[in-house]
Amino acid sequence: MSLNPSSNTFASSLLRQEILDLHAYHVPDSSNLIKLDAMENPYLLPDSLRGEIAKTVVSAEINRYPDPVAATLKGKIRATTGLPDDMGVMLGNGSDELIQILAMAVNKPGAVLMSAEPSFVMYKMISTFTGMRYVGVPLTSDFSLDLPAMLAAIEREQPALIFLAYPNNPTGNLFSADDVKQIIERANGLVVVDEAYYAFASDSFLSRLADYQNLLVMRTFSKLGMAGLRLCFLAGGDEWLSQLEKLRLPYNVGVLPQLVAEKLLDHHDVLLLQAKQIMDDRESLRRQMAELDGVDVYPSEANFLLFRVKNANAVFDGLKQHGILIKNLNKGHPMLKDCLRVTVGMPEENDKFIAALREIIIQSAH
Ligand code: PMP
Repeated sequence: MSLNPSSNTFASSLLRQEILDLHAYHVPDSSNLIKLDAMENPYLLPDSLRGEIAKTVVSAEINRYPDPVAATLKGKIRATTGLPDDMGVMLGNGSDELIQILAMAVNKPGAVLMSAEPSFVMYKMISTFTGMRYVGVPLTSDFSLDLPAMLAAIEREQPALIFLAYPNNPTGNLFSADDVKQIIERANGLVVVDEAYYAFASDSFLSRLADYQNLLVMRTFSKLGMAGLRLCFLAGGDEWLSQLEKLRLPYNVGVLPQLVAEKLLDHHDVLLLQAKQIMDDRESLRRQMAELDGVDVYPSEANFLLFRVKNANAVFDGLKQHGILIKNLNKGHPMLKDCLRVTVGMPEENDKFIAALREIIIQSAH
């Protein structure tokens, strides 16, 4: 077909309306800024480990397709997570890929994808991509699950798929395990507990997998220090995973991510020590933020803190002028009015953040 100046309108005429209505997932430019917006682990690996990775990469057979079942990597994931023996693992190129596979798998006509709100935005976005009907059930004002509302919505909507982020993003809190259990018990559909922030949290549903036929646990390695590798996994019973595997595109995890992740999992202790440091720093940052007048900071079991100020846009812009990028959630959801989210960085980055925040808050009070 020849190009014509109105090709934009031509594309629009072919595209699905819900795709035209979507806003693409926006990643802001962070050049020259202290990057505290994306829940990454700020630490590099020790030199010795980087040297080992370099050697592994040099001899990697990148002329060959990767191991399609990633057997070695899966073995190491089993070993480091303590997954029950009768549970399987399926790998994804980031959680987003697995969320999409799950949605495609259960998307019979009229099927509903349900989540609590506010939560991870990709649940709703992927529901839209895949043509599922999305139902978001608001959290309570302290960001706990609204159990009666959740149970009523389950009864009414009969969701095929429910996602619960445990701990939740962007609020940072860990829902009550008892509430999550009741939701799993009442649901006739599949419940996926998304443990993206497991490394910073005090509880997990991995050990409860065998208790429920309709439960899967999803974990990403992004927050533990491998965001650049794009690697995550789904854990659960074979009756689910053997079917979901049919939707996984072949070779979705490349040779280099497999090899580097294997090496990193051999040194899991190093990553866990970094996570421990991040948790300690999170508490110190939270205490310092709580001392500031006009800043309400929420409890967190993740590697970030949600906080509310009087004018989030002004604070966000002010921090950027100080060279610090965080996440502005002000327009994200009505319950997040004037909310901001800061990822815990290295101590010197946290210090700069706190100093800048203090200055901005004091100035705005005058
Ligand atoms: N789940 C939750 C709850 C998240 O907050 C995120 C990242 N923001 C993800 C999944 C996505 O992680 P990944 O890097 O594996 O795509």
